[in-house]
Parts: sequence; structure tokens; C-alpha cells
Amino acid sequence: MPPKEERREALKLVYEQARGCAKCPEFVATRTQVVFGAGNADADLMFVGEAPGANEDRMGLPFVGQAGKLLDAMLAAAGLGRARDSYIANVVKCRPPGNRTPTLDEANACAAYLDRQIDLVNPKIIVALGKTAATRLLGSDASVASLRGRAHSYRGRPLVVTYHPAYLLRTLPDKARAWEDLLFARRTLKAALASAAA
Ligand code: URA
Repeated sequence: MPPKEERREALKLVYEQARGCAKCPEFVATRTQVVFGAGNADADLMFVGEAPGANEDRMGLPFVGQAGKLLDAMLAAAGLGRARDSYIANVVKCRPPGNRTPTLDEANACAAYLDRQIDLVNPKIIVALGKTAATRLLGSDASVASLRGRAHSYRGRPLVVTYHPAYLLRTLPDKARAWEDLLFARRTLKAALASAAA
């Protein structure tokens, strides 16, 4: 793995490529800007969401709306700071018009950007937020309910699936399950760090 500074420079280059991306004509015609990712580019924990919404499209940052506030609150309750302890990116980097779910073609068109982000941030664990992220990263159409509660694997690191925070805002009973998932992710991360140090 190249040193931190080299990985940061490489990540900037990928960002520049994504900023000029014209693979999805509908996105090019409607986006305000490309929302690449944010947080600690050297974090052990990486979240992958679905796609930017209206607020993110306007501000150029992921998870800045209500769903992001819920994610921040859950992280804080677990003793984690989003900017300090995690890096966050989405399956697609442009806002789908009307906040529709990105198509499989759009997710695939953006896949190389996300995979480069994962390789360059080099997290010890990935948390997939919701079905779009789980489907893209695991290549499985299974439900979040059936995928959560165990560690999967993506690009050589553990991957945990949980509910999308926007879904949790509408479905309060699943918040307790998402909290369990976050604690499970934190335990899995600690175990990965301990085995790397051994
Ligand atoms: N939902 C997502 O999946 N990503 C964002 O950045 C914002 C909302």
C-alpha cells in the first residue's frame, strides 16, 4: 500500500476524473455538481450510501441533509466523529433527478470511482448503507434484513450491511436494529485492528 500522502494525491486525481465524468447523460444534464466523498481520507471506517440528494447536490458533500444528521447522531452516540473517524461516499456521485434510485447501469458506470476510493482510503471495514449500496458491493439482490448481522467481504475487507438512514427516518422500529449494526461494525473494526497489530 503506498504511503498516506501518495494515496491522498491519487484520491484527488480520481476526484478530478469524476468531476468531469460524462458517462450518464441524464446526470450531466441535471446535476449541480459531482458529490465525490468526504471525511478522513485515511479512516479505518468507510460508509457507502446510495446517491446525493438535493442538499448534497447543492453543497457538493455527501449526507448533509436529514439522513446525514441522523447518521451523525448515531455515530456520536457510538463515540465516533464522522469527519474524524470515517470517510463517506456514495454508489453514484451525481444526484438522480427526483431522487429516484440509481439504475444498475448508473451504479456500474460509477463503480470504478467508488472502487478506487475504497482502495485509496483503504478502510479496515466498509458499512453499506441500504440496499443500493449492498447490491452494488455484494452483487446480490438480497434484502438488507437478510444481509445484516454478519460480516461479508469486499475488496479484501469486512463489509457490514445496515439500513439507510433515510429509511430509518421513515421506519422508526428499525432504528434499534441499525444501532445494533453500528455496534457490530465497531466490534468488527476493533477485531480487524487487533489482528493487524498482532
Ligand atoms: N442519501 C445517500 O445515500 N447519500 C447522500 O449523500 C445523501 C442521502
